[in-house]
Amino acid sequence: MNAIVETTPSNVRDALGRPLRDLRLSVIEACNFRCPYCMPAERVPDDYGFDAASRLSFDEIETLVRGFVRMGVTKLRITGGEPLLRKRLPELVARLTALEGLTDIALTTNGSLLALHARALREAGLHRITVSLDALDPELFRGLSGGRGDVADVLKGIEAAQGAGFDPIKLNCVVQRNVNEREVLPLVEFAREYGHVMRFIEYMDVGTCNGWQRERVVSSAELRDRIDARWPLLPLEAQYRGEVASRYGFIDGAGEVGFVSSVSEPFCGDCHRARVSADGRLYTCLFAAEGDDLRPLLSQGEQAVALRLAERWSKRADRYSELRGSPKVSRRHVEMYLVGG
Ligand code: SAM
Ligand code: SF4
Ligand code: SF4
Repeated sequence: MNAIVETTPSNVRDALGRPLRDLRLSVIEACNFRCPYCMPAERVPDDYGFDAASRLSFDEIETLVRGFVRMGVTKLRITGGEPLLRKRLPELVARLTALEGLTDIALTTNGSLLALHARALREAGLHRITVSLDALDPELFRGLSGGRGDVADVLKGIEAAQGAGFDPIKLNCVVQRNVNEREVLPLVEFAREYGHVMRFIEYMDVGTCNGWQRERVVSSAELRDRIDARWPLLPLEAQYRGEVASRYGFIDGAGEVGFVSSVSEPFCGDCHRARVSADGRLYTCLFAAEGDDLRPLLSQGEQAVALRLAERWSKRADRYSELRGSPKVSRRHVEMYLVGG
């Protein structure tokens, strides 16, 4: 064991000087949607999903997260697949919110089952919810969910989450050229009316099965200009170093809007984030091809996890988005539905 890992793991920096502060944890690989940009129906069968036994148990997840906290992680996002398909999720959330050291626990969901679970999640202590919402138009929404989703269910879910006390709720929209561009202003209008925070995410070349084309990307700058022309905007200060979205406030005071520009303005220099799949593999970048299997360590306790993380993190040199397009970088990436965005 080297000297780095014998000292405090939270001091560890990766090869580019970045600490580990943020964990995205997938609790399930299955999903009830088949969004073409993530899990295209023609590539991923309806019954896709590891068998339940291959997923980390709640005890294993708790040990894992404790190990990350020893590494200095303070922010946790629960994701999937569709995390609300994981049975007894509020029980897991209650265990994780009880851990010392985590200051922010959020969940990303497609919202289709949120009306059923919002209250229990709030009572379990979940701090924040992000709902993906690519369109308000029912037919377009259905197509964007791979023919599986009903936007009315998602809107009910958002309403239930607000009623349960989640405030504000973030809404994520991935904008694709000539697909859902026309939904941008209606989505902003909806968010302004109900006090939600709309965030537009550039369409990314995640995974290997979504047939990504650069021409489909609508840059954040273009979207910002379009929104600014309708509702004038002012840039807001970042709330903390490494904040992923650039945020703008509406000059008329009706809230804010954010842009995640992983393609047009990569932010690898401040990337403090690790991802773990539902079967316990560690990915140090959203675009990594392989993950490290942490599961065998979990029976040895959180210190063993922290030491392995420290060792692995100290060697990390990922910065895919800054190198995108270079012939030297591999186009083989873990699928988004395994690591949750
Ligand atoms: N199923 C949940 C949901 O959709 O919110 C959580 C997992 S999903 C993988 C997390 C986020 O990744 C969603 O907001 C989704 O829109 C985003 N996403 C998936 N594929 C993407 C892509 N190719 N480019 C940009 N964002 C993507
Ligand atoms: Fe499922 Fe979310 Fe991927 Fe859509 S983006 S297929 S809802 S995991
Ligand atoms: Fe972080 Fe990798 Fe995204 Fe860069 S490309 S911001 S290193 S996850």
